Amino acid sequence: MTGPIRATIVGSLPKPGWLAVPGILQAPWKVPATDLPEALADATRLCVDSQVAAGLDVVTDGEQRRRHYVWGFLDGIAAIDAENLALKPTRGQRFRKEAPVARLTGEPDCPEPRLVEPLLALRALTDRPVKVTLPGPMTIVDSLLDEVGRHSTADLAMIFAAMLNREAKALAAAGAAVVQFDEPCFNIYLDDARDWGIAALERASAGVGTKTGVHICYGYGGSEVADWKAANRDWSHYEQSLAMVARTDIDQVSIETAAVGVDIGVIELLRGKDVLLGLVDVGKEAAETPDQIADGLRRALAYVAPERLFACTDCGLVLRSREAAAAKMRALAAGAAIVNRELGAP
Ligand code: ZN
Repeated sequence: MTGPIRATIVGSLPKPGWLAVPGILQAPWKVPATDLPEALADATRLCVDSQVAAGLDVVTDGEQRRRHYVWGFLDGIAAIDAENLALKPTRGQRFRKEAPVARLTGEPDCPEPRLVEPLLALRALTDRPVKVTLPGPMTIVDSLLDEVGRHSTADLAMIFAAMLNREAKALAAAGAAVVQFDEPCFNIYLDDARDWGIAALERASAGVGTKTGVHICYGYGGSEVADWKAANRDWSHYEQSLAMVARTDIDQVSIETAAVGVDIGVIELLRGKDVLLGLVDVGKEAAETPDQIADGLRRALAYVAPERLFACTDCGLVLRSREAAAAKMRALAAGAAIVNRELGAP
């Protein structure tokens, strides 16, 4: 770090072409099961190297070990079938009528945290602070077809929140600098977020013992999401979702402003929080310039102290090419460096 403003990414990075088909979500592994652990370790190393080479201050494992950001947590939980998928209306049918989801076939349970070993492997690759992302409870239950019907959606979210809390505490104890919960659904189901989603997030993040974050966005950079963003005119969701999150003990909030019509001034609602400001459009290959990143950061400084400001992506970079992702990360770090120098940093 060479100044108060730091640079980081939301979480995911593209997978190498030898590991999974690039450019699609939930791509199957190309590598046979016997070679998969070694391949995942190699892919993780490449991701760390690219983040460090770009100059990012907080790094992730690029979510290389999970085929999907939600399923990566659901894999291995009892009574979850993430192989034989079902179709379900998800995300308020904002992007498509139905999406493939995992199925809940009994009482969900995971006796032990399962993400500590991957975290230790990540920490062995870098001295920089590392962030681990987990799906938020509301987004988990939206991404799951409950075939049992024993619990209300809100109660089911609380069950997952308790599991997430155990995992988050274990990750904190194992040295994660940040545990981030991904809750794109907070910008969709505003009433449910108010009724139980925020409570579930607070349950998941209570007493974690390291910095906690929440990522709220308008979706990945796929074509259906891009079409929705191009047609949408109402960008008021953050005015409600960020106001709700502002009242929690969550330390960091990651939001999207590059690919959408959101005014950066909305971060005024986040006083006292670290702001991970999305200044990189994850839906297009062309990289932002350092000057574009610097412009966004300067505007944000009207609302947030530089020590609390992070130059960040809008969402995960999983759908981009590796070259584009690297260029966008370099722009984030270079843009932060420009503004840090203006602030008097060496
Ligand atoms: Zn996102």
